[in-house]
Amino acid sequence: MACVNQHSFCKTLLSYINILIILILLDFSYGMFNILLCIFTVTSLTEKACYLAVSHFLLVMLVWSFIRTMRTPPATPPRCFHWSKAMKVQYKTKSEEEFQVTLCEAAMELPIIMLSKEGNIRFCSICQLIQPDRCHHCVKCNMCVLKKDHHCVWLHNCVGFSNYKYFLLTLLYAILYLLFISAASLQYVIKIWAGKLPDALGSPLLALVCLSLIVLILVLFLLLYTCFNIGRNRTTIEANYPPSYVNCYDQNAYSFGFCQNLLQVLGEKKRYWLFPVFTSLGDGYSFPMRCAVDDVEKNAGIFQVLPARPLWITLDQYQEINDSEGDTDTTVMEDKNEDVQELEN
Ligand SMILES: [Zn+2]
Ligand SMILES: [Zn+2]
Repeated sequence: MACVNQHSFCKTLLSYINILIILILLDFSYGMFNILLCIFTVTSLTEKACYLAVSHFLLVMLVWSFIRTMRTPPATPPRCFHWSKAMKVQYKTKSEEEFQVTLCEAAMELPIIMLSKEGNIRFCSICQLIQPDRCHHCVKCNMCVLKKDHHCVWLHNCVGFSNYKYFLLTLLYAILYLLFISAASLQYVIKIWAGKLPDALGSPLLALVCLSLIVLILVLFLLLYTCFNIGRNRTTIEANYPPSYVNCYDQNAYSFGFCQNLLQVLGEKKRYWLFPVFTSLGDGYSFPMRCAVDDVEKNAGIFQVLPARPLWITLDQYQEINDSEGDTDTTVMEDKNEDVQELEN
């Protein structure tokens, strides 16, 4: 028993070692830049105050975003996606094909467009639920995560719908902080080489610049890849394993252009964009798509009405647009409903 406890303790300790490395790096950069360079080396008071103010601001924003990304629990599917008692029994007693029929019936009530690679309704037998679009099970977190991007070992948490904005801000502030301290330190390294400052300062400052630049390049690649995915409104999972949709063959089905895609992550209120507070648009389980579901026959019995309201339009604005469009839309919807009834008959 003691051995099991010891093993579990070692495992927990090892899983947090990445976070420990980040803390050591931040501590090193803080000591070298703020104490050694700003307090003991820089002579100009204005320069000293400027360096301290900017580096502290960027560091606070970086740590705040990092903690928010790490501590925000992943968003899980709401109750309506969970299996009913009857479905739990059917899962144990029926064959997978028969269970799929039950899933299809249940999925008709839900906003589901994404299918498995085999063209089936996606479900998670561990969490016992129908998986909403863009939701994936995380083995490490042991739960289904809404709009799962990836499980980050450095954060010891899943990056998904609930903390994607914080993750983006963590990368952004990390780059700004590293860029600032390496640029400010570099000029003093050059002064030391030129013999204008004591040699003893050379090695620690050079170590700070080199370390900052190495981490900066790594984080920059990660930020560029994240921006590339935002540009196509794809998660890392969707980029690696292109999903299938009901009646839609567009691999960038959620993309409405870089600005609109970014708006889905950052939210509508510009004043909150640079702060790690939750402002992302949507509910995490239904997403506006480019392709319209108007070919009912291709839905193979799973007719779904897409969330027609774009996430960046408020309900009141959407109501106004609908009212102004008048009877035209009503006729289209009536035709659609007739088609569905015909298909069901
Ligand atoms: Zn699950
Ligand atoms: Zn996870």
